[in-house]
Amino acid sequence: MRDIPHAQFETSTPLTDAQLIDPDSSIGRAHDAFSKTSQAAWQFLILAEIANFSVLRRHLGRLRADTVVVDVATRIGEALPDARVVIAGREVAEIAFESNARLALDVAMAALEVAFERPLDIDGESYVIHVQMGAAAAAVADHRDDVHLIEEAENALVESRAERSAIARDVTGNSVAIDRAALARDLALAIEREELFLQYQPKVHLRRQQITSVEALVRWNHPTRGLVLPNDFIPLAEESRDIVALTLWTIRRSIADQKTLAANGHDLRIFINIAGALLADKRFVRRACALVEASGAQLGFEITETSVIRDPESAIANLKVFAEIGIVIAIDDYGAGLSSLAYLKQLPARELKIDKLFVTQLTSSNRDPLIVRSTIDLAHALEMEVVAEGVETQAAMALLSVMGCDMIQGFLISRPINLEALMHFLEDGKYQAMTADIRAPFNRLATVWKRG
Ligand code: C2E
Ligand code: CA
Ligand code: CA
Repeated sequence: MRDIPHAQFETSTPLTDAQLIDPDSSIGRAHDAFSKTSQAAWQFLILAEIANFSVLRRHLGRLRADTVVVDVATRIGEALPDARVVIAGREVAEIAFESNARLALDVAMAALEVAFERPLDIDGESYVIHVQMGAAAAAVADHRDDVHLIEEAENALVESRAERSAIARDVTGNSVAIDRAALARDLALAIEREELFLQYQPKVHLRRQQITSVEALVRWNHPTRGLVLPNDFIPLAEESRDIVALTLWTIRRSIADQKTLAANGHDLRIFINIAGALLADKRFVRRACALVEASGAQLGFEITETSVIRDPESAIANLKVFAEIGIVIAIDDYGAGLSSLAYLKQLPARELKIDKLFVTQLTSSNRDPLIVRSTIDLAHALEMEVVAEGVETQAAMALLSVMGCDMIQGFLISRPINLEALMHFLEDGKYQAMTADIRAPFNRLATVWKRG
């Protein structure tokens, strides 16, 4: 469509050889020409597609329409003099360039949008070209091949057609893999460098309205990445076996913090998460027992059933060793992994923690209340106390209370907090007011739940 007929036309400067790369030549496509010696931090690829190509073809005829992309590439070259432009088809031009700033991509895309607001002169007539853009950015340090960059730019182009606006994506696939390797290396030093620390999340006993225990959750204060949460490094520690040193450190730290708590009048059991692989590790079991026995600390270990199923015989034997020296065993994430009633009965566990997956949806799902209710009954039949984790709302707390759940843990009561904050929390007693108020939504929820 001739959007602006007979508009002024200025002669365009032809692309230089360096800019316009013939796709059939040995140099190949724009992205192939990424300068391997470039010191820039980022490389970018923009795919610019003529969105109104079929309209142009109707007006110009097939032969002329097929070369409009050359005019488009020329206009791109004027707007981005440092970029390499390649004609990648009748409707698409590829634009490759590097920069030290990620922002350069947004700047370039904006420049192209402006450049195509002006119509193109095609054989003496003015045509507005609608250019659709999909782009990808990759950090040079992370990036191993150009395929990801092209794929991401292509995906972005598809998205931009649907969204009718330019889309840019970052290539992250490779960086995640490289991140993991770097993080695993750093982790080995993190313990020595005292970069790990513990936060504690209280568990409230509903009937007693009392905090009887806390769970220790490890965090990593990484020198360049800042706070790293356990889901991002515990799996790495398990793979590299650093989990042994990490867990022994956690036990030592918890023992010391428990002494501080006790000295301030707070007698609390501290629960520690124990990764599955450690349950069959004789050396770990010996060292953990030695630490606990020497200190006389009141600890608990949270383990998952999945970890018992790996090697049930030695896991159950080791759990009995722990239980004999006074460590309370809690079954963590119940319902989320493999469950086996046969093993459940054999475990010397005193607590069962219902996975937060069921608890966070408790008041919005029809199925989860039934699962939670039957889990509570099962645990009580096996003489275990039940902890619901992931309690975020007053309504969930009320429903759990009516179902006979013994303890709750979750953001409603407190997020995981540092030792000092925990002591303040215990002293100001606000949680007691919160749990004392359970009865308010109690009756209404109880009826809703009973009706199903
Ligand atoms: P987990 O044992 O299931 O721990 C509970 C997780 O749920 C914690 O995440 C906690 O911050 C989060 N959470 C607590 N309350 C709520 C709530 O109300 N709503 C929601 N949505 N989430 C809540 P975090 O600290 O990121 O820990 C993640 C996992 O990392 C833990 O899951 C545990 O499996 C593992 N982990 C943490 N510390 C250690 C450790 O010292 N050793 C080992 N082996 N694993 C650990
Ligand atoms: Ca846990
Ligand atoms: Ca859990």
